[in-house]
Amino acid sequence: MAEETVFSKIVSGEIPVEKLAETERVIAFPDINPQAPVHVLVVPKTSEYQNVTELAAGDPSLLAEMVEVAKGIAAEHANGEFRLIFNNGASAGQTIFHVHAHVIANLEERSLLG
Ligand code: 5GP
Repeated sequence: MAEETVFSKIVSGEIPVEKLAETERVIAFPDINPQAPVHVLVVPKTSEYQNVTELAAGDPSLLAEMVEVAKGIAAEHANGEFRLIFNNGASAGQTIFHVHAHVIANLEERSLLG
């Protein structure tokens, strides 16, 4: 079980967020520090998996559900195209060790990410 993180507090409702999508096992909400016009975090409700390597090994169907939620976010908030980023480990830029995907879209509006 992962340590308690800001994302488990968001999942429990302790920290309020604007929920953009929710399924039984996943929630999505805007990143607090957006790097693109659309920058949404897709987060499993369980805090069992610290990163995508653990999630892929432990529950591939939950990983597939996260991709489906990302697809829905991009359909609703962009033209359906999106970049999906998992930072996997501290040296890869991961700062919160509760697995999450960054959904990045509408990049033509800002050239920040190349
Ligand atoms: P990581 O670097 O771990 O892949 O991404 C963590 C992301 O969580 C960062 O992009 C950061 O801006 C975002 N973040 C950190 N704290 C909060 C918060 O309290 N609320 C929201 N909505 N996003 C957060």
